[in-house]
Amino acid sequence: MDRKTGSRPVAIMCSSCGKDTLLRREPVYEGFKRAGETLSCTACGHVFPDEAAVSFKAKKVVPGFGRQDLPPPPKVFDEREVLETVSRLCRHCAHYVVNPFLQRCSRSNREVEATDTCKQFAPKNPPDPAP
Ligand SMILES: [Zn+2]
Repeated sequence: MDRKTGSRPVAIMCSSCGKDTLLRREPVYEGFKRAGETLSCTACGHVFPDEAAVSFKAKKVVPGFGRQDLPPPPKVFDEREVLETVSRLCRHCAHYVVNPFLQRCSRSNREVEATDTCKQFAPKNPPDPAP
């Protein structure tokens, strides 16, 4: 049986509940932008910090036993996504204010991290308007 709908289930050995189970992948969005994935155990709901923390069962492939459900190579962001994200970090934003105690967004008036991103991003040095 070969289901072609979406991402195929990936067999894992959960480090939290110790069961042979499946990995659940859920996309994480910041605003409308896909920021990454949440990896969790379908049995106990344990959330893995990243793919490196997941014990994929398919790593132990028996030679000659052509499994179709090999895990994809670890890849959380593609290069273009990284560049887009980096260029929109709060630290590059015109609303980003640093003082000795905290970093703040002058637009939302909330504490932010230099590595945060948000929909309200405004570049610090806006490009010259087109002639
Ligand atoms: Zn589990």
